[in-house]
Amino acid sequence: MPRSQSDLSNTAIRIFLQEVGKFYDTERGLEPFKPTARQKQEVYEFFKGCCAYCDALLDPDLATLDHLIPLNRTALGLHAWGNVVACCRHCNKEKHFNNWLDFLRLKAGNQFRARRDRILAFVDHYRYKPELGLHTIAQNLYEDVGEVGMTLLRLRFKQAQNVIRGITKLEKS
Ligand SMILES: [Zn+2]
Repeated sequence: MPRSQSDLSNTAIRIFLQEVGKFYDTERGLEPFKPTARQKQEVYEFFKGCCAYCDALLDPDLATLDHLIPLNRTALGLHAWGNVVACCRHCNKEKHFNNWLDFLRLKAGNQFRARRDRILAFVDHYRYKPELGLHTIAQNLYEDVGEVGMTLLRLRFKQAQNVIRGITKLEKS
């Protein structure tokens, strides 16, 4: 698959997982997670102002939020309550698309169980279920957007070529 096609598909997947996340929040009786300043505060408070992975106290400048399960085609995490944890800038960069349990095992050492349980309690608190059975739908979206998007791009590219050809022909004559 050419790079541009997978770019289109991946963008569509990300938007899809954000939209599904909002719907999932509403279905669970929660206010959709944006996050607003107040929503961020709620997440930070759950983790007592510390990074969910390395447990460093979060300086306001270093505080970020991380999608526990990443928003991509294979992991299918949602932008929703229960999947966004408090995280320091350093861990956020380091974890990237890695599995959170593998990453936590590296980061937490003998604190692994305690920190894992705290994260699981967070997920549970918002009744976030990682397995929603959306793989087929997401895979179809990924393929459809790629194909339709590339077809449209090729069509418009041809039109642009014709416009440019017309202009350069005029200049030559
Ligand atoms: Zn950290």
